[in-house]
Amino acid sequence: MLEIDHLTLAYDDTVVVEDLALTAADGEVLCVLGPSGCGKSTLLRAVAGLEPPVTGTIHLDGRDLAGLRPDQRDVGLMFQEHALFPHRNVAENVAFGPRVHGLDRDAVRQRVAEALSLVGLSGTEFRHVDELSGGERQRVALARAIAPRPRLLMLDEPLGSLDRALQTRLLEDLPRVLSQLGTTVVYVTHDQDEALSLADRIAVMRAGRIEQQDTPAELWRSPRTAFVARFLGLGPVMAVQADADTVTTPWGRVPRAEVSDAGAATGTVETVLLPEALRLATGHQPPGDDELAVTATVVIRRFQGDHLRLGVDTATGQRLQVAAWRGQLPEVGDEVTLAIEVAGIHLLADDPGG
Ligand code: ADP
Repeated sequence: MLEIDHLTLAYDDTVVVEDLALTAADGEVLCVLGPSGCGKSTLLRAVAGLEPPVTGTIHLDGRDLAGLRPDQRDVGLMFQEHALFPHRNVAENVAFGPRVHGLDRDAVRQRVAEALSLVGLSGTEFRHVDELSGGERQRVALARAIAPRPRLLMLDEPLGSLDRALQTRLLEDLPRVLSQLGTTVVYVTHDQDEALSLADRIAVMRAGRIEQQDTPAELWRSPRTAFVARFLGLGPVMAVQADADTVTTPWGRVPRAEVSDAGAATGTVETVLLPEALRLATGHQPPGDDELAVTATVVIRRFQGDHLRLGVDTATGQRLQVAAWRGQLPEVGDEVTLAIEVAGIHLLADDPGG
């Protein structure tokens, strides 16, 4: 439905997006996830028609967008600095798009009611936006982006300016709103939790290029490069020796056929432990045949409500993170046994950017 090919974007002579390819299917929520400054906003601005490409094409429903003005593209864009019209009421703000599209009064009123209902703000039509809380203003901005019913809705860090509690609340609501809407959504964020909880598919972006595009589950299970693994918060990334048949980890040698492999070379290979690979062994559940047993000392103990997050140093010198649940709550300084699942040792492909 959205098809971006060989797209290069630049400010003056500085290239910020380079030979980028990206697709989104009809009705899909695609998250573009990447660190600040990697070119996410510039990419959205190009799709919206606010930045002319140096080279490359953008198609929407098979239609080439080159040469179309922003208002001819059927694309909605909501920025983080969701500048609402001040001194106006909610309805006037949300009605802006449908009015520009030339809908009559009744149709505009219906669109406003629909959009407000979707974001959980029915009945607030006549409240002034200056009197609203930050979270309510964010919802009004979302309703304003939705109201014209764009074919493609693009949201640029829509939760960026909110405090953590409000982010969490809107994050719980957004999947319902987006799925009821049924529109294709491109959602830009630097927050991996946001991307993992909202996206049908995630495109991890780095320095103007897409490094990996996959479903959240697939990304989590099989990050391709060290950059992707680190950005998802997996870790640590460490070097192991791999030949065609055997992988030599700090905790022992294992058959290469039994580990997870993103297409790594042989020799020194960057490796990450997938999150499910590591657990605390207990008397009831000692390390199994498909696990390596590793002795470690607890050095960090963080209370997380229903469990503890432990930082442990292995006897072989790695700092790892592991969760401890009720019934097995070691103290700092305690010695523990870790069970590392061999299938969760993940060999990463070569990292092009280093
Ligand atoms: P992101 O949205 O991922 O944070 P941006 O697309 O905003 O990244 O920016 C990508 C790069 O382009 C950054 O290095 C930024 O400083 C630069 N940049 C952004 N907007 C402009 C502009 N209007 N003029 C010149 N450089 C810009």
